[in-house]
Amino acid sequence: MFTNILGYPRIGAHRELKKACEKYWKGKITVDELLKVGQEQRAFNWQTQQEQGVDLIPANDFSYYDQVLDTVLAFGVIPERYQPLKALSKTDLYFAMARGYQKGDDDVIAMEMTKWFDTNYHYMVPEFAASQTFALYDDKPVREFLESKALGIHTKPVLLSPVSFLLLGKEKEKGFHRITLLERLLPVYIELLRQLCDAGADWIQIDEPFLVMDLSKEEQKALRTTYETIKKEVPQAKIILTTYFEGLRQNTALACELPACALHIDLARDVNQLGAVLDHLKPDVSLSLGLVDGRNIWKNDFTKSLPMINQAVEKLGQDRVMVATSCSLLHTPCDLDLETNEEVLPQGIKRWLAFAKQKVEEVAVLKKLCQSDTHQSVKQWLTQNMLDIESRQQSELIHKSEVKQRVVAIKPEDYTRDSTFETRQLRQREKLNLPVFPTTTIGSFPQTAEIRKLRQQFKKGQLTQAEYEDLLQQNIEQTIRWQESVGLDVLVHGEYERNDMVEYFGELLEGFVFTKNGWVQSYGSRGVKPPIIFGDVQRSEAMTVRWSSFAQQQTQKLVKGMLTGPVTILQWSFVRDDQPRSVTAQQIALAIRDEVSDLEKAGIQVVQIDEPAIREGLPLRTKDWDVYLKWAVNAFRLASSGVKDETQIHTHMCYSEFNDIIPQIAAMDADVITIETSRSQMELLEAFREFRYPNEIGPGVYDIHSPRVPSTEEMTHLLQKASEFLPAQNIWVNPDCGLKTRDWAETKVALTNLVEAAKKMRETT
Ligand code: GLN
Ligand code: ZN
Repeated sequence: MFTNILGYPRIGAHRELKKACEKYWKGKITVDELLKVGQEQRAFNWQTQQEQGVDLIPANDFSYYDQVLDTVLAFGVIPERYQPLKALSKTDLYFAMARGYQKGDDDVIAMEMTKWFDTNYHYMVPEFAASQTFALYDDKPVREFLESKALGIHTKPVLLSPVSFLLLGKEKEKGFHRITLLERLLPVYIELLRQLCDAGADWIQIDEPFLVMDLSKEEQKALRTTYETIKKEVPQAKIILTTYFEGLRQNTALACELPACALHIDLARDVNQLGAVLDHLKPDVSLSLGLVDGRNIWKNDFTKSLPMINQAVEKLGQDRVMVATSCSLLHTPCDLDLETNEEVLPQGIKRWLAFAKQKVEEVAVLKKLCQSDTHQSVKQWLTQNMLDIESRQQSELIHKSEVKQRVVAIKPEDYTRDSTFETRQLRQREKLNLPVFPTTTIGSFPQTAEIRKLRQQFKKGQLTQAEYEDLLQQNIEQTIRWQESVGLDVLVHGEYERNDMVEYFGELLEGFVFTKNGWVQSYGSRGVKPPIIFGDVQRSEAMTVRWSSFAQQQTQKLVKGMLTGPVTILQWSFVRDDQPRSVTAQQIALAIRDEVSDLEKAGIQVVQIDEPAIREGLPLRTKDWDVYLKWAVNAFRLASSGVKDETQIHTHMCYSEFNDIIPQIAAMDADVITIETSRSQMELLEAFREFRYPNEIGPGVYDIHSPRVPSTEEMTHLLQKASEFLPAQNIWVNPDCGLKTRDWAETKVALTNLVEAAKKMRETT
């Protein structure tokens, strides 16, 4: 029996990689210093897994920014606009594609970024031209394999499959489908596999996440061609065909037919697939059982995993069974041992949890528990595991009867506003008195070092409550003044009191716990620290009213209250797995609903409920969409429908592909939605036009994920494009997302240009 880890977090337990990258970008360290940090991180990860006795330790799961971008570079899929930058080092070219590049005469925008399946991780979207060629441009997979070898560790290289790579990308021009490029990509891919084998690799993990999605005939054929060619051309490679994030369902037969040495399945997402896969698996093929959940932080229940391992062993024999994590551990924090602060994470709850390092240990222990000569100390693991699982099942911290009763008592009318959108729009126009092309921002303003320090000092007790509040108020006031001076229409307070849009609310709600170091990569150097929802959720006090009403008192202009929506809070937390997610969503929605009505009572006339995560929560199989969308949209409506017609409800979504879900977005019935569009050049508004989306929309005209400053002309152009798709009187002018990751200098110029662009539009419309 083998143990198999699909990938390990690369940011470092203390975010070493993030810090090094950001220093490098600021010119504070050299490229060699950056590369050294990467090397140390890889060595640390490999050694950690080796110490646990993992058999298949991943290599090339590391990345300085994103594994898909690594693949882009590896196969030389460098978009035309970066050609002038080829004189830069590979590292700089790589970061230019990730972040855009603005220096001297060079001014190039970054590649598009989007969510990795149903996770909160973002990958860089490969761009393919009809005339696309491929060549081995960067040998990172081979390099990293050799690097581990030099350390005396025999690793298993991880590659993204050529089919999944193509499917993750987009066509830059019309008239062809990117899957047809397989013919050209495959020989280069084969060459890479050969080089890996020549370097000494045997097991190679090929990630094929699309095998858990709905596949067209073409795509199925592409998969067959790929694995048959690999088998023929590189027979020495022991391929682990790796699927995750869902069950194989109707693709079971296909996955089992593809020639590979092993198949990996995600049993954390779909336990029911085990039987079918065991029935279909060809002789000699091994099965990797993805038992330890790479998407959540709950301890593995050994009493559930062991029977599955036994079932597989009975059918296949020990030799053909692998015990594995369900997917890469990229989506979990590094190390629970670092959580030593009882006040933040009480021991009573900590014993229910496992982070990446602990999950590796679970995988190793599960294998040991299946060996005939199991040592007594290993058996104790099982006993301890059972005690921990039981303590969670019976804990009194989890259940609150008043919360459960309130959920049961929800009435149908709690999900609807008093009047239709048309009526509300008229009332709001009268009351709010905004110009056409009203301008606003998405909520946060730059989180400067100074602001972060304030919050830290307060947390550490170095500032009193009064001092802290006073300093925050000064910042809010300045931000209001600045927004007034530049001429924005709907102002925000800046969200300085928030470390993170989910953590902030989690800390104020009951049923959540937190970590000190539980960082998970979101994109590039950005990380999030998802809260852990362990119990029934309830609001005990107002959470934002204080700051929003202070801001409103500073100005005659409208100030928008700023909340995070129930689906996003759910999606960006580690969620309890002992009740349906839909029920947890309802509990959170009720808490937000109370907050919205407190804001309204306090005189706030515009409230934004951010739901950037609605799209990423979509199930991977379209068949499951309806069920999810129904409860997700209802959770938003429950949170937002308790207000008067005159109160304008905004929502915001980032990096969303809307095409398939416009009716449901419309069903959310927010008066205004602001969305990401600038990197896709307004393309995604087409779908809104087709649907005749009735409510108001702010298509982002300023890409805040890049330090690049857009000009007035550029934004005017985007707005003109937007007016071809939408009625002008329904268009808002705003950035793509919040400004918290930006510097003030760039923000000021960009927003000044943005207001200018709105004025230009008003003149010409
Ligand atoms: N209001 C949040 C902000 O501005 C929205 C962030 C997001 O959509 N991710 O920061
Ligand atoms: Zn956003």
